[in-house]
Amino acid sequence: MTETLAAHRSLPLTDLSEDEHSFRSVVRDFAEEKLRPLVSRMDHEAQIPRELIDACFDLGIMGIEIPEKHGGAGATFFMSVLVVEELARVDASLAVLVDVQNTLVNNAVLRWGTEDQKARYFPKLASAWVGAYALSEAGSGSDAFALACRAVDKGDHFELTGRKLWITNAAEAELFIVMANVDPGKGYKGITAFLVERSFPGFSVGKKEDKLGIRASSTCELVLEGCRVPRANVLGEVGKGYKIAIETLNEGRIGIGAQMVGVAQGAFECGIKYAQERSQFGKPIAEFQAVQFQLADLATEIEASRLLTYNAARLRDMGAPFIKEAAMAKLFASRAAEHVTSKVVEVYGGYGFTREYPVEKYFRDQKVGQIYEGTTNMQLMVIAKQILGKMA
Ligand SMILES: Cc1cc2nc3c(=O)[nH]c(=O)nc-3n(C[C@H](O)[C@H](O)[C@H](O)COP(=O)(O)OP(=O)(O)OC[C@H]3O[C@@H](n4cnc5c(N)ncnc54)[C@H](O)[C@@H]3O)c2cc1C
Repeated sequence: MTETLAAHRSLPLTDLSEDEHSFRSVVRDFAEEKLRPLVSRMDHEAQIPRELIDACFDLGIMGIEIPEKHGGAGATFFMSVLVVEELARVDASLAVLVDVQNTLVNNAVLRWGTEDQKARYFPKLASAWVGAYALSEAGSGSDAFALACRAVDKGDHFELTGRKLWITNAAEAELFIVMANVDPGKGYKGITAFLVERSFPGFSVGKKEDKLGIRASSTCELVLEGCRVPRANVLGEVGKGYKIAIETLNEGRIGIGAQMVGVAQGAFECGIKYAQERSQFGKPIAEFQAVQFQLADLATEIEASRLLTYNAARLRDMGAPFIKEAAMAKLFASRAAEHVTSKVVEVYGGYGFTREYPVEKYFRDQKVGQIYEGTTNMQLMVIAKQILGKMA
């Protein structure tokens, strides 16, 4: 083992390099100064103001892993995780917009895009274009490869027909990675990924969902009616869309773990502050051991979630196997976020149950962490498969 590697290994997972530390500070300041004042309005109006999205582009957090030659920050996946965590500490909706952009869309183009596709799309994705990732349909969620969206080969282009459901960022996005089957007879081996621009003929964005949480994040249906997609916009190989979907989601779920760490952390900080301010029986409620123990438990759950998430991200960046660790991070962090936010509502007592205080929103926002990018049961299946091999 080299000295550097030995030194590296002795560092705690939460130890940040200078770059990581300063990137995180910049994002934390942005979240406090620019995002926090808008959070309640965004939730109420179910919309993220375009100026805020533009500010994310200006900050360089929409193209974290995009190489510098294409206008991105040329940074690591771990940096995306830090950014998503920091944003989610203040607002989970903006966090997921940035998460999908980096961990799914940019990531997929980085791994499977041709040089031509990178040159055409990266400068836009790093500076102005929001991206979206469209796999799910009304009839295929967990059973993602049962998708019915069809792509017909017309030589120099494909024609895509079908509908996608639940697509995050669809209201804002200019570029969509759309999974469609070119040969249903081949089952999942017909699934192909396409880069679809919003302006392509035959493409439209349908109904927007009215949701329990992450209300400002857009979640819409996509309608493809003979949508004409040039052959040059096939991402990866024809018939390899299933591989792209599995592999990007394996990585993407680390980002959802980070989102859940941030949500739990944000709610927890509110709980700590409130417990020190609120007096009952003549003293702050934080002086009651029962409250202290509850807060200590929550702090431990958040720390464990963060360690699982950072570890999965660091494994991914060093090229080591991370599939089990990523699923564990999302599984654990989303459960912890549910528990933490629920308990913080209780710390606030009756006030926690009202919209005047911020904690009910954290409680609503966390729930989706156990649903998207693979439900809790799907994470358990991934973990079981990894630990039992082919038996599971
Ligand atoms: C807010 C939001 C944003 C989303 N964003 C996107 C997006 O950007 N792109 C995209 O492609 N999709 C997106 N999705 C879709 C999301 O990934 C799916 O909702 C999710 O995969 C679950 O699919 P489903 O809703 O069809 O539930 P189902 O698959 O019908 O599952 C229902 C229940 O059955 C359980 N279940 C299903 N099969 C099994 C099994 N074999 N064993 C045990 N339990 C099982 C599940 O765990 C779940 O509890 C989003 C969803 C939401 C809510």
